[in-house]
Amino acid sequence: MDRSYDVAVIGLGAMGSAAAYHLAARGLRVLGVERFGPAHDRGASHGGSRIIRQAYFEHPDYVPLLLRAYELWEALEHDSGSELMTLTGALMLGRPDSRTVSGSRASAQRWSLPHEMLEAAEIRRRFPTLQPRDDHIGLYEARGGFVRPEAAVDAHLRLAERAGADLRFFEPAAAWTALPGGEGVRITTAAQTYTADRLVVCPGAWAPRLLADLGVEFTVERQVQYWFAPRGGTEPFAPQRHPVYVWEDPAGVQVYGFPAYEGPQGGVKTAFFRRGTPCTPETLDRRIHPEEIAVIAEHLSDRVPDLPGRFLRGAACMYTTTADEHFVISAHPEHPQVTVACGFSGHGFKFTPVVGEIAADLATAGTTAHPIDLFDPRPRRAAEPRQEVPR
Ligand SMILES: Cc1cc2nc3c(=O)[nH]c(=O)nc-3n(C[C@H](O)[C@H](O)[C@H](O)COP(=O)(O)OP(=O)(O)OC[C@H]3O[C@@H](n4cnc5c(N)ncnc54)[C@H](O)[C@@H]3O)c2cc1C
Repeated sequence: MDRSYDVAVIGLGAMGSAAAYHLAARGLRVLGVERFGPAHDRGASHGGSRIIRQAYFEHPDYVPLLLRAYELWEALEHDSGSELMTLTGALMLGRPDSRTVSGSRASAQRWSLPHEMLEAAEIRRRFPTLQPRDDHIGLYEARGGFVRPEAAVDAHLRLAERAGADLRFFEPAAAWTALPGGEGVRITTAAQTYTADRLVVCPGAWAPRLLADLGVEFTVERQVQYWFAPRGGTEPFAPQRHPVYVWEDPAGVQVYGFPAYEGPQGGVKTAFFRRGTPCTPETLDRRIHPEEIAVIAEHLSDRVPDLPGRFLRGAACMYTTTADEHFVISAHPEHPQVTVACGFSGHGFKFTPVVGEIAADLATAGTTAHPIDLFDPRPRRAAEPRQEVPR
């Protein structure tokens, strides 16, 4: 049976669930199709925690979006009744000229964000789990912390359904077609064909396939999250003592971590930021290998000396990275009725609700009041536009 909708959303992970909710809350008839089940662990949005912070070393233009994201995270917690965001403070660590420290400081100054610059000795005194060398400093912001990815996706999906969205799980879109004239799209799944006036595509690591004609290069990377039981127990790593952190070494390698937010049994989570290995959703190696556990344990051994006690578990995840590591959020350059939100390059989760709001603006009004110039795919398209490729 053919059914018609105002807006269809392909992919109901982080960004698609948020888009579906914001669209349905505006009274639109929304269809969502998802390859897997609700809040699954096959894409980019699993592992219990994602860092959230405002003094953004990646680029100051992200800060207004972060300020709006915090408001929307609070609204989402309120409306869903779920605990989603925990503010523990965030420390950005490294040499003063590292990108992590200098970029965070530039964003904090540009937007007058409350922050403190801490010398190594002060960091060791206030946060004894962290042992920086004397030539490292830290930018501390009290508004940093973490959000819970599975609970957040689940909250957006529940609220979207409550607002009337028709969400179909285990129903991958095999293809989408923009109908000529800028109006209307057709989406084909194994179950049926749907039509909608507008389409929002949020495919995560499936972007190279589903959005090949965008002409943007994406690298899908395997990234591992590790949980360790610290020597001496989790108490010193409790959320009120141990902030989230990103720590850059002199070679530019960044490691990051969380407090023990799951109590004594849950362990303490840590990971490298970037340094992944290229993969596809089909070739992603989900096994965690002893050699890679040894590498991160060694990297942490003098920075967070009590952490790499006993390895508890790991979980592989995928980044979908663009060449400049900035997101792609835009109307599709060839099809104005299609909105794309992808290429979140390993740092998108904290923006989830504001990306949903922006996608809803673009899909309904064709424009948004949010600053999104950085995310325009057109200047970043490969020199030779590719031919239409089968999806
Ligand atoms: C290890 C790791 C750590 C991270 N840490 C942080 C962090 O601390 N802070 C932060 O802000 N960000 C972090 N990120 C990044 C963040 O999690 C991602 O940017 C974000 O989850 C991406 O959301 P998404 O909606 O694009 O992808 P996903 O949540 O993966 O959603 C894409 C969805 O599309 C579906 N799909 C694909 N193709 C189809 C199809 N044909 N039909 C139907 N459905 C389809 C998929 O099944 C999936 O559900 C991290 C990511 C990883 C992997």
